[in-house]
Amino acid sequence: MDQIEEQASEHEIHENRAEVLASMAAASRRAGRRPEDTHLLVVSKTWPVEMVRRAATSGQIHFGESRAQEVLEKVPALPETLHWHFIGHLQKNKIRKIIHLCETLHSVDSLPLAQQISRIAGEEGVTPGIFLQVNVAADSAKFGFSAASIVEEIDEVLTLPHLSIEGLMTIPAFSPDPEDSRPHFARLRELRDTLSTRTGKPLPGLSMGMSGDYAVAIEEGATIVRVGTAIFGKRNKQAQ
Ligand SMILES: *Cc1c(COP(=O)(O)O)cnc(C)c1O
Repeated sequence: MDQIEEQASEHEIHENRAEVLASMAAASRRAGRRPEDTHLLVVSKTWPVEMVRRAATSGQIHFGESRAQEVLEKVPALPETLHWHFIGHLQKNKIRKIIHLCETLHSVDSLPLAQQISRIAGEEGVTPGIFLQVNVAADSAKFGFSAASIVEEIDEVLTLPHLSIEGLMTIPAFSPDPEDSRPHFARLRELRDTLSTRTGKPLPGLSMGMSGDYAVAIEEGATIVRVGTAIFGKRNKQAQ
C-alpha cells in the first residue's frame, strides 16, 4: 500500500530519465567522448510491470533485472520490443529459465558459470551478450573474477562458442561520494585495455556506474550505466 503511494508517475519517470540522459551527455562531453557511445540501462528490479510500462513510453527499451523470478514474471507481461539484461548473481539452475528472456548477462562472475551458460546457450540455440563481472576492489562481499583470475582465464572464456563477450562489468562498494568509485572504474578500464592487448579482442563494453556514480563512470569510460533509483525513486524492497 505504502509503495503505491510512493510510486513515481509516468511524467516524473520521464522527467527523471531526461535528467539522467542529460547528465550522461554532459559527462561524455567533459571526457571528450561522444554521448551516443554511452547507453542507459534502466534497472527495474523490485518495481511492478506498470512502472516498466511508464518508463517504456519515454522510448526506453533496455531494462535490467537482478532476480530470475522477477524476469519470469515481468518479461512475458510486457511488450516484446523491450530488451532485458540480467544484472544479478546468476545461479546455475536458473540459466535455462532466463536465457530466452534476457539477451545480455552483465554478471558472469566465474569461469565455471561462463562455461555452463555457453553449454546451455548452445543447446537452446541462442548467443547471449556477456559482460564478465570483475571484483576490482577485491571486496570480499562481492561476486566476480579477481583481476588476477580474469587475466589467467580470459583466453578460456573467449574460446566458449555460444557467448558473445562484450566486455567487463563492476560494482564498487556503495559510497555517498561518487569520487570513491572513480579509481575502481579506472581500474576496470585499464584491466580491459590489458586483456584486449593480450587477446587481440577489443572487449569494447564497460558496464559500470549506478544512480550515485554514473557520471563518474562515464568520465572513466563506461559504455553502459545501470540506473534504477534515479529513474523510479527509492526502492522499498531489497533486491540482490
Ligand atoms: C540495483 C542495481 C543497480 C541500480 O542501482 P541504483 O542505485 O538503484 O541505480 C545497478 N547495478 C546492479 C548490479 C544492481 O543490482
